[in-house]
Amino acid sequence: MARYGMVIDLQKCVGCGACAIACKAGNNTPDSQDGQTFNWADFETTTTGTFPNVEYDTKPVLCNHCTKAACVEACPAKPKAMFKSPDGITLHNDERCIGCRRCQKACPYSAKDAKKEKAQYSVISYNSRLHSAHRKFEDGSELIRGCTASGKEISKAVGSTPPHKTDYSHPDYESVRRKKVVEKCVFCAHRVANKLDPECVVACPANARIFGDLDDAGSEASKLLKKHKGTRLKDEAGTDP
Ligand code: SF4
Ligand code: SF4
Repeated sequence: MARYGMVIDLQKCVGCGACAIACKAGNNTPDSQDGQTFNWADFETTTTGTFPNVEYDTKPVLCNHCTKAACVEACPAKPKAMFKSPDGITLHNDERCIGCRRCQKACPYSAKDAKKEKAQYSVISYNSRLHSAHRKFEDGSELIRGCTASGKEISKAVGSTPPHKTDYSHPDYESVRRKKVVEKCVFCAHRVANKLDPECVVACPANARIFGDLDDAGSEASKLLKKHKGTRLKDEAGTDP
């Protein structure tokens, strides 16, 4: 059995955001809502200094698929809605979720109060209402007047609203969101099960994201971890991220 993990090479990452867009399109995550960003693949950015001596730093962030996942421990649903797959992925079953949001509070990486803490990224998001797709596909105005079709026209021509329902085939969870449940990155488990890399890995033009079996010494991810000194976010939280 594999133990999946992801290495992100910050020397290669240029912060272009292709990973975030690919994730949003592939997993059909909603627009931001109630102060939450709904970005399963997100960024932590910092700007330091005073103009013109300014430095800008960007770091991709996502669910850390912790081995001792605090979100799973906190989930009161029986059987648990937040759970670990045998290959190390933290998954969420929205049919079992009762929307108590204890996982959000327990996760050391999740914004406790997005408005107060001005959190820049989300790990677990809560769907307070039902949203079928991105709002721009309900907008009738052209992006470039007289030149492009509107999102609404595209939806009409296609016969449904892009990016459509993601066809996940996984025995333990459904992809299409309901209201009053949480959601998070699932390491594209539906793709991994079919020997495909997660959407963010495939989309990265700098090849900064390397996904693989950390128990396989021959995997690219294992080799990189052996070769370089890696860091884990909030290691001190004790969740074995
Ligand atoms: Fe759970 Fe948060 Fe760890 Fe992801 S990062 S496994 S949501 S505790
Ligand atoms: Fe579990 Fe859902 Fe409650 Fe999170 S919101 S702790 S997944 S039941």
